Amino acid sequence: MSEAQVVTRFAPSPTGFLHIGGARTALFNWLYARGRGGKFLLRIEDTDRARSTPEATAAILKGMEWLGLDYDGDPVSQFEQADRHAEVAQQLLAEGKAYKCFSTQDEIAAFRDAAKAEGKSTLFRSPWRDADAASHPDAPFVVRIKAPQEGTTVIRDQVQGDVTIRNDQLDDMILLRSDGTPVYMLAVVVDDHDMGVTHVIRGDDHLNNAARQMMIYDAMGWDVPVWAHIPLIHGPDGKKLSKRHGALGVEEYQTMGYPAAAMRNYLARLGWSHGDDEFFTDAQAKEWFGFDGIGKSPARFDFKKLEN
Ligand code: GLU
Repeated sequence: MSEAQVVTRFAPSPTGFLHIGGARTALFNWLYARGRGGKFLLRIEDTDRARSTPEATAAILKGMEWLGLDYDGDPVSQFEQADRHAEVAQQLLAEGKAYKCFSTQDEIAAFRDAAKAEGKSTLFRSPWRDADAASHPDAPFVVRIKAPQEGTTVIRDQVQGDVTIRNDQLDDMILLRSDGTPVYMLAVVVDDHDMGVTHVIRGDDHLNNAARQMMIYDAMGWDVPVWAHIPLIHGPDGKKLSKRHGALGVEEYQTMGYPAAAMRNYLARLGWSHGDDEFFTDAQAKEWFGFDGIGKSPARFDFKKLEN
């Protein structure tokens, strides 16, 4: 039996240029798919209307083009899928897997204060979770998912190993805001499902999100993708990578005259290794790249090393 086709994606938020970390995530997804005859998709996560700009989208596309990271099909705009995201929330509502919560901000704050005073968990437990529809007021509401309250959720991560979360630490996450707009967490899951994504390879700053996203996969009865959360990149001083470390937009390196192939090689080795090999061709990288070569500690980005 042949294995199902691998589908990966790069899902940048267009709020700035394509930085080193984003380029590395894109490259890992590209290598993983291309080395397995799979598909590599691009989704622009432009739901944050205040921070997303067309200039940033253009810079990301330009950076990917320079690096030679070709994607299959057209880029998907997450914002344009908003109706579909809301439709899924409505389905969960209709199936009783989500509910309308009418609690006001003041009530939620009061709940938290009381829980704190009693030394209890401040995770909001909505009184509307099991309320009868007949008792619903004519007032604004958000739609919340019914989180599992017992047992555990295990994120089977290809890099981090099994990560176990106690379900009583998950809250009834909001799916639709009071103005009816879908939240980001819902958008990601619906898009990944609809795009047929089989492997989610992204920074480990999203690891906690995976547990929350799994609630939606489970409620919808969808297959959970294979997770691979890669350690973030740090600067030579061991601190989170920033502009101070020379972490520019990738096209800056193009302007400085770095060959794209050298950049790809450098990026591939930021957190991934294949024995002692320092240099490899694209064909070798595609053949060799896999999760077992990804380290568990943050990669170090050293601009000087790139210069040599
Ligand atoms: N848009 C997110 C980011 O730029 C990525 C989310 C994901 O890969 O699931 O960090």
